[in-house]
Amino acid sequence: MTASAQDERRWDVIILGAGPAGSALARLLRPSHDVLVIERRTTGETGPRIGESLPGAASVLLRKLGLWERFLEGSHLQRGSALSVWDTETPVWSDALFDPCGPGWLLDRRGFDRLLYEGALESGACILQGLRQYDIERSDDAWSIRLAQDNLVHTAPVLVDATGRSGAIARRLGLPRQADDDLLCAFTFLPCLPNDQEATLRTCADENGWWYSARIPHGKRVLAYHFDAHDPLRHQWREAGAFLALARRHPILREVMTESEPESLRYHPAGAAILDLTASKTQARAQQGFLAIGDALISFDPISSQGLFHCLASAVSAANAIKEGFPFQAGAWQAYRGEMLRVAERYLKHLALTYVGPERFASFTFWAKRREGNGDLLDRPYASMPASNKGEPLAP
Ligand SMILES: Cc1cc2nc3c(=O)[nH]c(=O)nc-3n(C[C@H](O)[C@H](O)[C@H](O)COP(=O)(O)OP(=O)(O)OC[C@H]3O[C@@H](n4cnc5c(N)ncnc54)[C@H](O)[C@@H]3O)c2cc1C
Repeated sequence: MTASAQDERRWDVIILGAGPAGSALARLLRPSHDVLVIERRTTGETGPRIGESLPGAASVLLRKLGLWERFLEGSHLQRGSALSVWDTETPVWSDALFDPCGPGWLLDRRGFDRLLYEGALESGACILQGLRQYDIERSDDAWSIRLAQDNLVHTAPVLVDATGRSGAIARRLGLPRQADDDLLCAFTFLPCLPNDQEATLRTCADENGWWYSARIPHGKRVLAYHFDAHDPLRHQWREAGAFLALARRHPILREVMTESEPESLRYHPAGAAILDLTASKTQARAQQGFLAIGDALISFDPISSQGLFHCLASAVSAANAIKEGFPFQAGAWQAYRGEMLRVAERYLKHLALTYVGPERFASFTFWAKRREGNGDLLDRPYASMPASNKGEPLAP
């Protein structure tokens, strides 16, 4: 069926995904652009969400979004020093006081996502939730999405993938992603010890992966382990008791853990994945008005704590590109692409150096695999890296 004049609704921009990246972009584009956001889920999720560490530099972006004052009213904790057992068995403290942008925060993550989502709504963006099934088509001059719920065809010259780590829209369009790391995160939330007031981010490496723990708002502490999805030992830490016993082997974790039973274990894919901005297919789609932002563009390894900063920064850059005439002005795309390629390249080199760190575990599969996989990145620019279309790793 082709759209008739009656059943078509035109927008300037359609964004898929109302997570932090999609919500931030929607707000930044208003009021100059008519924006539709389509979200798969419905709101109302409660309980803590993983992904809580936000660097101090994010304050500049929150100011740009006009949400800084409201962010400060949230229940986020100010982040303190970092304590890590990484390159050697000796714990190393890094003092956040030396960061010129300030120490950053340990977020009430649901509250942070809600702040951005409500910011998008308040700006006048139209957000439709609970939409899991829709068709995306490309005609000569626009993208169109047909929604069963309102029997309308929504069209726009710009389509933005903000669907997070799945990169669902880029994937649907067959665009290549560099995604070779099957890192999986098992995590739980523990009650804090009585009088636990610390704001330290604790990280430590072991033979089969790496851990982190941090106190988060509302009396909880996150405890997370990152390991390879194909590790034959993964079944050992499927059960919460075994998982806690493994964590307790590490003094810097043991000293902040309660004896009480945790909430159940959850799993999340966590390996780095990057949309290949150098591929001719991606460039051809960009000329047709397709952009990706946030995790859909670059999914950061959690060791970097950069995911949320990148969500906001890529939303700001994408908003600039769209306001400068993307996709009709080639320069707008080139500026966005160049900036994101530089981000990817810097990040991948830093990641490679991080995984080279724990020399003492070099012969263990987890580390050997990452040293080998990332080793090339130290000498080669991102633009010459091979791309793959691999899917997400399987939960154990
Ligand atoms: C284990 C782990 C720990 C992390 N820790 C940190 C941390 O400490 N600090 C940090 O900065 N970052 C961290 N991150 C990363 C951070 O959580 C992400 O960078 C951030 O959530 C990405 O935001 P986003 O808006 O791009 O994607 P998401 O938050 O994933 O939002 C995507 C939205 O799109 C919707 N969606 C998905 N598919 C569709 C579809 N087909 N159609 C419509 N809507 C769709 C989803 O429902 C969701 O609402 C961590 C990530 C992991 C996995």
